[in-house]
Amino acid sequence: MKIILNPNSNPTSDASREEKIAAGGFGKYYTDNMVVAEWIEGQGWSDAELKAYGPLSLDPATSVLHYGQEIFEGMKAYTQPDGGVSLFRPTANAERFNRSASRMALPEIPVDDFVEAVVALVKQDIKWVPKIVGESLYIRPFMIATEIGLGVRPSNHATFLVITTPTSAYFDPSKAVTVWISTEFVRAAKGGTGAAKTGGNYAGSLLAQKQAAAEGCDQVVWLDAIEHRWVEEMGGMNLYFVKGEGKDATIFTPKLTGTLLAGITRDSILTVAQDLGYKVEEGMISTDDWRDGVASGEITEIFACGTAAVVSPVGAAKSAAGTWVTGDGEPGKITMEIRNHLLGIQHGTIEDTHGWNVRVK
Ligand SMILES: *Cc1c(COP(=O)(O)O)cnc(C)c1O
Repeated sequence: MKIILNPNSNPTSDASREEKIAAGGFGKYYTDNMVVAEWIEGQGWSDAELKAYGPLSLDPATSVLHYGQEIFEGMKAYTQPDGGVSLFRPTANAERFNRSASRMALPEIPVDDFVEAVVALVKQDIKWVPKIVGESLYIRPFMIATEIGLGVRPSNHATFLVITTPTSAYFDPSKAVTVWISTEFVRAAKGGTGAAKTGGNYAGSLLAQKQAAAEGCDQVVWLDAIEHRWVEEMGGMNLYFVKGEGKDATIFTPKLTGTLLAGITRDSILTVAQDLGYKVEEGMISTDDWRDGVASGEITEIFACGTAAVVSPVGAAKSAAGTWVTGDGEPGKITMEIRNHLLGIQHGTIEDTHGWNVRVK
């Protein structure tokens, strides 16, 4: 895909950009440019352009606005000790984007084209990559159905976009999050769209998130749709349970049953934990196992993981059945070790033995 470079002729001033980067947060400010490409059935992808960030003009009957046919990705560019910038496993995002596209009846985009679009934008807006370890440039590639019309059918027109936003830590890593285990609402059922990164999964989760907040919790934990018993995910993040202590610990995560989103952070931690000498296990864990495990002390730490927050310690879990606290309710040792190791690889301060980092500069 040939990307026409037509960058913003009036980019943010150095002073204003530095101020916006320093303001931190998540998704508060966007960089000067974006990438847009169009797909038409029978013709494929064309019109790829890097241009000034700005509003889209959409006909009110554009299909995505009515039927939610859309997908997205979340990835990051990290500053490196030598002043360079690298992406973390961008091809894994591209491949997942195509799996989401396939499930949502949207067109796939060649992996190289996806990565090329991301690299072009990060290169153009490289000054927006925060310099502090733990901060990064969050990249949001997405695709929307842009056929005009209210007929319900797979769109014959799609638009691919990439936007970026400087971010500080998404969660405060020094503070464990509290979770609400929802037995009333479900995120995903077998045969549904749980494994695709699509907006509808999030739209359907917001009421439960509201309920969690009303219960004094930060996030929702999702259970399986049939028995309401098996732990799947936390909000938009995957979950890990640490069983035991020290080097004999096992790092356990719910297996991918088809209803979970296959996190790239989740996958990276399966490898990193083994590199650090821990045993890893994927399987099923019920809410009873969770309650009994923290009560007996078998489960010593719990954490959630995803690109935005990387690793977030999980403290108390609350449900209709009661409240269970893991350990002393503070971030665990192994949780922080894994977090720091992964962040170290991403920021180039720990050797990247798996070839995960892709240099942009
Ligand atoms: C994006 C996402 C994750 C985390 O995936 P990463 O690739 O690690 O960022 C987990 N669960 C859901 C529901 C998600 O949308």
